[in-house]
Amino acid sequence: MNDLQKEFLDIVAEVRAHLEYQRALGVKYVEIPPLDDQKPIIQPAALSLPKEKAVAAPAASPVVKETAKTVEAGQPATLESIREEIGDCTRCKLHKGRNSIVYGEGDPKATIVFVGEGPGFEEDQQGRPFVGAAGQLLTDIIEKGMKIRRAEVYICNIVKCRPPNNRNPEPDEVEACIGFVKKQIVAINPRVIVTLGNVPTQNLLGTKQGITRMRGTWQEYNGIPVMPTFHPSYLLRSPGEKKWVWIDIKKVMERLGIAVPAKE
Ligand code: SF4
Repeated sequence: MNDLQKEFLDIVAEVRAHLEYQRALGVKYVEIPPLDDQKPIIQPAALSLPKEKAVAAPAASPVVKETAKTVEAGQPATLESIREEIGDCTRCKLHKGRNSIVYGEGDPKATIVFVGEGPGFEEDQQGRPFVGAAGQLLTDIIEKGMKIRRAEVYICNIVKCRPPNNRNPEPDEVEACIGFVKKQIVAINPRVIVTLGNVPTQNLLGTKQGITRMRGTWQEYNGIPVMPTFHPSYLLRSPGEKKWVWIDIKKVMERLGIAVPAKE
């Protein structure tokens, strides 16, 4: 088999894997534009960045990215329809102690999606993600560090209901809920995902590696670059570790063409 044949078979395998993934999400069909109507499907970054500073999304297969956008255009799942699907959810035992379902918030066309593990007390009270002390720290990372408004990114969690006493969500709870965040990611189709802590990193990436090893290293989820970093709650307990998160966030900024301050 020559190189061209091997490359063709690799592309076929990649498309097949992505379509299997979409089918698992409930997508019944994808819309393919005719060859004589080729418009760029991948839109420029939603962030209001100077165009000359924007960089192409690396590591993402053009085939996979195009398919994801096309599925979105074929309207199987929007953030609104996914929220409707969740409804007044009782799919796992976390529903018993919750005050509110914390779905997620931000720009539905965000370039960056931050994924945490689950709501805490404040989030459960307000129905919004990352609004407690850890949330303020995340907001500072986004607004003071990255110089982006929080409303320009999207923030959500692996589970939508608060685990009792802020414990980690259990495997059956993650299994019941993780499909929703995966659908949110497909609907948003960001250029980068930042996972915050062990729970989202391990469950989105399907790894048992701990965050201390994973952080700062580029990973990939469904063709989208993923940067794992520490959870803001951990930084509140261990402020000396903030420097590592800044290193990770600078990698995200560089990848997206966001100007990084010369000095911190
Ligand atoms: S955590 Fe997710 S699956 Fe469990 S009850 Fe809440 S919304 Fe439903």
